[in-house]
Amino acid sequence: MKKENGRNSFRVIAVFILTSVILLTACNQKSGNNPADVPVIIGNEEAVLSTLYNHYSAEYRALAWQAFNIASERILDITNGTESTDSLAVVVDIDETLLDNSPHQALTILTGDPYPAGWNEWCSLAVAEAIPGAVSFLNLADSLGFSIFYVSNRHEDPLYEPTFKNLVEKGFPQVSSNSLLLRKKATATNPDPSNKEARRKFIESGGFNIILYAGDNIGDFYSDKEKGDERLKRAMEDRSSFGTTYIVLPNPMYGNWPSAAGSDGTPESYARLLHIMTEPFRKR
Ligand SMILES: [Mg+2]
Repeated sequence: MKKENGRNSFRVIAVFILTSVILLTACNQKSGNNPADVPVIIGNEEAVLSTLYNHYSAEYRALAWQAFNIASERILDITNGTESTDSLAVVVDIDETLLDNSPHQALTILTGDPYPAGWNEWCSLAVAEAIPGAVSFLNLADSLGFSIFYVSNRHEDPLYEPTFKNLVEKGFPQVSSNSLLLRKKATATNPDPSNKEARRKFIESGGFNIILYAGDNIGDFYSDKEKGDERLKRAMEDRSSFGTTYIVLPNPMYGNWPSAAGSDGTPESYARLLHIMTEPFRKR
């Protein structure tokens, strides 16, 4: 009975969200200002499906477990071939790697206010759920003697305290002022604090050898400077590192990838990308 009620509740929520999205999409779409051969067919649907996928699908959870199962095997392998793990470090991103922020993403869809609207408020609640497999993996790393560094682009001010609290309450190990490295304000000597390269170098300068990275964005592994095909080419060059040194979590909801692909976040730019994809049909 409880299960059936849960299913009905899910249906009600899903219908509510889809109805809201259809209404928002209808309001957002303007007629008569699109290229005739590139029909605008999407507004928020892409955000809806990716957000529902991350939150509700068994497939998302399976991918997360898969990622952390591979990560666990890797550190066990490394431990077997190493006398001491004292100077070995695991570097992990936080959002959509360890903590699930899909509820905030859902809010941006329903309100029509994109990020950063509501972001600080959401993080300040410190109630984000752990991504499946993340807590077990990092506790294994901790038990094997690896040092763990949390490198996130959440703004240190004002999100340090709630992020610390959220991680500790969810059971993540080694959370401290030394290990939690959030984004600082831009300065003359560090004009691009969102680039994680400086923080990775800082960790290495402390004598640590980073043997594993986990993240949902290319910038969690190496400096994410390339755009378009160059970005894809760089990922291909590094393909042997994925699943060995770089552990990737799926995040279709947001990230650098849409702008790197050529989208500016407008329905027109999404339609343009879809139009390019259908080129094979026009060549027939
Ligand atoms: Mg992330």
